[in-house]
Amino acid sequence: MLVIPLSLSIVVGVSGLLTGCAQPAVSGSPEPVGTSAEPGATTPRGTAIRAPSSASPTASSSPASTPATPQGPAATPSAATTAPSPTGLALPALAPPYDTVLGGHGSGRVAYLSFDDGPGPQTEKILDVLAAAGVQATFCQVGSRLADYPDTERRVIDGGHTLCNHSWSHPAKLDTAPAEGINAEISRTQQAFAALGVTSHYFRAPDGDFGQTTTLRQVCQLNQVVPLGWSVDSLDWKKPGAKAIVANVLSAVHPGAVILMHDAGGADRSQTLAALPDVISGLRSAGYTLAPLPAGGVG
Ligand SMILES: [Zn+2]
Repeated sequence: MLVIPLSLSIVVGVSGLLTGCAQPAVSGSPEPVGTSAEPGATTPRGTAIRAPSSASPTASSSPASTPATPQGPAATPSAATTAPSPTGLALPALAPPYDTVLGGHGSGRVAYLSFDDGPGPQTEKILDVLAAAGVQATFCQVGSRLADYPDTERRVIDGGHTLCNHSWSHPAKLDTAPAEGINAEISRTQQAFAALGVTSHYFRAPDGDFGQTTTLRQVCQLNQVVPLGWSVDSLDWKKPGAKAIVANVLSAVHPGAVILMHDAGGADRSQTLAALPDVISGLRSAGYTLAPLPAGGVG
């Protein structure tokens, strides 16, 4: 089962943070991090796995282009706001599905490809591969880049892929930022999606790092975006070669797996592009259906 208690998920996060500091792959990433030109490579750390949803593992076939629902800062009077942050933003009491980080969905033989850091110059090539294979995926996108690639973004939306908010500017250490800063990063991208007539119901933190406190998840809840991690890392951000990327996925896949890949965030995604057809065919040969996460969220 894909169940890791919340307390353990925090332990995983701490462990990941420690190892992340020591891993050359993190500090030695050749990709720029945090610049305006490139939102930065994802340097994943520990990601907790949320209990599978009771919903059917069969993915929704509905397109991501659900009617827009602008979600400005604190626009949603959902749960009781009982925990004001030190700087004053009233945060909701943490409740499912926002209390843990989603790393898998359901228990059926379904796998969920996710692509981070776009839209970018190679996103359309990823879309071409997916379209040729008849696959829909989940795109975790950097808000500040949406306007730079309007045609690409329209293809993502019209292709029925699920949208995931990946912050506005992909800042490092977002998890330790003040709640107001986190909220600005999330809500601004939600507003950018709304301007395109769509809504995202997921948020993947930069570097997959949701931190050691509840603040980031509480801000997710405020914006009604499910914290999204992954349970299978293709490690394409390390550029280990296409064959290794394929092997990383096929050796670790499990029912309900959310698989991390990248369509942008670095100047060259040729390895990801080269690996993707074999990732898809390999997963299908292993009996997996590939699907986007439910566009309307989980839980
Ligand atoms: Zn990223």
